[in-house]
Amino acid sequence: DSVFANVVRAPEDPILGVTVAYNKDPSPKKLNLGVGAYRTEEGKPLVLNVVRRAEQMLVNDTSRVKEYLPIVGLAEFNKLSAKLIFGVDSPAIQENRVTTVQCLSGTGSLRVGAEFLARHYHEHTIYIPQPTWGNHPKVFTIAGLSVKTYRYYSPETRGLDFQGLLDDLNAAPSGAIVLLHACAHNPTGVDPTPEQWEQIRQLMRSKGLLPFFDSAYQGFASGSLDEDAQSVRMFVSDGGECLVAQSYAKNMGMYGERVGALSIVCKSADVAVRVESQLKLVIRPMYSNPPIHGASIVAAILKDSHMYHEWTVELKAMADRIISMRQKLFDALQARGTPGDWSHIIKQIGMFTFTGLNAQQVAFMTKEYHIYMTSDGRISMAGLSSQTVPLLADAIHAAVS
Ligand code: PLP
Repeated sequence: DSVFANVVRAPEDPILGVTVAYNKDPSPKKLNLGVGAYRTEEGKPLVLNVVRRAEQMLVNDTSRVKEYLPIVGLAEFNKLSAKLIFGVDSPAIQENRVTTVQCLSGTGSLRVGAEFLARHYHEHTIYIPQPTWGNHPKVFTIAGLSVKTYRYYSPETRGLDFQGLLDDLNAAPSGAIVLLHACAHNPTGVDPTPEQWEQIRQLMRSKGLLPFFDSAYQGFASGSLDEDAQSVRMFVSDGGECLVAQSYAKNMGMYGERVGALSIVCKSADVAVRVESQLKLVIRPMYSNPPIHGASIVAAILKDSHMYHEWTVELKAMADRIISMRQKLFDALQARGTPGDWSHIIKQIGMFTFTGLNAQQVAFMTKEYHIYMTSDGRISMAGLSSQTVPLLADAIHAAVS
């Protein structure tokens, strides 16, 4: 008998499992709106032209070698990533109060940040929004933090439960860590307004709550990199401390290259140096050092003003296509006279729409229409095209009628 005979079969990941089920479906009209990956109007994955160009440059440069990167990754990439999220003139960067380490995309950045906090921060409770990206509680728990939730979304208004959010953060123990989605909250597509962010900031600072930003969609929400970084910059400009996990998966289409960064903004340069020395002790036994290829592509784009500009244009085109899909889907439901108020489809922001469809309705749409999505009713707008909107509208109409 196998020494592993007692191993029980684990369930599929709730998000990636949707793709597993989709792949098994032989129907030619099947549609995968589960995973958060951008698709073109033709339903194809997109590699940005600027990424192809940067990659070609790197391949042609025969002086490049494949030595190990330092534990903290590519220095140039780290500097440029900090500027991207905190702004080119950020005083925190100029005062050398920020330490940035290259990590394995957004997930790896969250994990390294969480393990650092579990080892070196006095409060081990992290508050995450209810609901949030399904991997958050797992990443933080396994890193040694204890996870609690704060109210975020109101099913009645399909908008922000702002009072619930304030009440829950107000009731949190002082010093607790708070996970905030920098923009384009996943799965709800609901973000606080700038005024609400300011109130959240004041409350958190007055209670000494530690912000941990997850920035997985910078530029992907509004189409503007600076606008999507406003929440983070608000918290940095008050001189206080915070953590930020950045991902280039969505905004540069670098999903499988696993490129991201963790930044910790500290009160002084001296603290930042000590924090970085401890981050190395977290990373070294975990994966030793990060991969070189994706970070080199990102750095090549960020440091060249022409390529950077080209990137912002391609990024805006992705964001605009998603926004146009929102309008098309909303119009299609209006045209069908589908019961209910669907204005949240055009009000929500970023890659996802939190439709309000329940698990039963989702199961119906998968069975009858071969449309795949997570059971919480979240659909990836980036997976839709003009051709597939009518099919989705038909399915939603049938599911709710
Ligand atoms: N955080 C949020 C909110 C996300 O939606 C995602 C991806 O879906 C991630 C983090 C991590 O993505 P990655 O590890 O691919 O950068």
